Amino acid sequence: MYTLQCVECGKENKETNYNCECGSLLEVRFDFDEVSVDFKLDGRDLRVWKYRSLLPVKSDPVTLKEGGTPLYRLERLEKELGIRRIYVKHEGLNPSGSFKDRGMTVGITKALEFRKKAVACASTGNTSASMAMYAAKAGLKAFVLLPAGKVALGKVAQALMHGADVIGIKGNFDDALRIVREVCDKADIYLLNSVNPYRLEGQKTIAFEIVDELGVPDAVLLPVGNAGNISAIYKGFKEFKELGLIERIPRMIGIQAEGASPIYKAFKEGRREITPFANPETIATAIRIGNPVNAKKALRAIYESKGLAEIVSDEEIVSAQKILAKNGIGVEPASASSVAGLIKLAKMGKIDRDSTVVCVATGNLLKDPETVIKVCGEPKIVDAEIEKVMALVT
Ligand SMILES: *Cc1c(COP(=O)(O)O)cnc(C)c1O
Ligand SMILES: [Zn+2]
Repeated sequence: MYTLQCVECGKENKETNYNCECGSLLEVRFDFDEVSVDFKLDGRDLRVWKYRSLLPVKSDPVTLKEGGTPLYRLERLEKELGIRRIYVKHEGLNPSGSFKDRGMTVGITKALEFRKKAVACASTGNTSASMAMYAAKAGLKAFVLLPAGKVALGKVAQALMHGADVIGIKGNFDDALRIVREVCDKADIYLLNSVNPYRLEGQKTIAFEIVDELGVPDAVLLPVGNAGNISAIYKGFKEFKELGLIERIPRMIGIQAEGASPIYKAFKEGRREITPFANPETIATAIRIGNPVNAKKALRAIYESKGLAEIVSDEEIVSAQKILAKNGIGVEPASASSVAGLIKLAKMGKIDRDSTVVCVATGNLLKDPETVIKVCGEPKIVDAEIEKVMALVT
């Protein structure tokens, strides 16, 4: 029904590989003649496993009821930017508070299918929180490698409480990923970073849900770090088109933080390969990545969909985070970069006024309380006296 194929040389790989012999990324390919689509695109009962007939599993899934996240409309921002329809898909309302849960429900299910006893990942935070949660549910041992001192507090708290072994690396995310890949090979631990092709299969359901609820938008904007998600969402749209469920694919628009923007740079120069950033830096720690492993897939998604890549500054990210908050949508900094990018591109005239756009908000506000306090300041403190409080409310 499905095979694991190399995206470069096309070679079919073993189901348990993460990389082809040629060193390139792998991708799950379905034989659509053998797939019977058993869901209706009626906008109802949205969740990852609604689309099980297009997910590569052979066993009962390990699930915490992920997906089915709300799509909110931002009418005020529409007026301000002069764009017909702007939606935000709030992935921060998944079980662990980020879209990573969509990938982990599939990835952890595969770990059990492959009879692995332990799983591991390098993480800027959310992958570790999600993996720890799903590993706990499945009864698997979990090892997490984090760049020491560079992970938002809420995410570390989740990984610890759900019982992962948390290891801080004195280096950045890219160092942690390099190390965990070797360790997994040597110790027969299942690797759940986004080089793992099954995780991306779960994440492609973001595209399925958007189509299910809204139809095909003109553009989808999202933050890009390791670039798995943009690749996954594009794959989702492409599969729906191959199946004849939709007729066109939206423009995929990847937004990076200025200080961590190798994909933007490659796009600007019309290249299909990146030059890594040695010292990525941004307030948006979830996308503080200098050497995105899925860069090639992401650039292909951008070029093929006639999309684009853009950068935003930390100030623009915080400003967009506040705009979302004023609309009742609480997100962590990285998540706001999609909306920051939309604002920037709309002002540059690069978004059609007559279009419907969806911004993916990737993670929850509660993930990064420390940044919030830095940006918003501490609460006011007064004596426990009515007059003192009255003075503050009038
Ligand atoms: C993981 C993550 C991203 C980046 O996704 P990639 O697939 O690595 O590009 C963006 N925002 C948040 C909140 C994340 O957790
Ligand atoms: Zn290959």
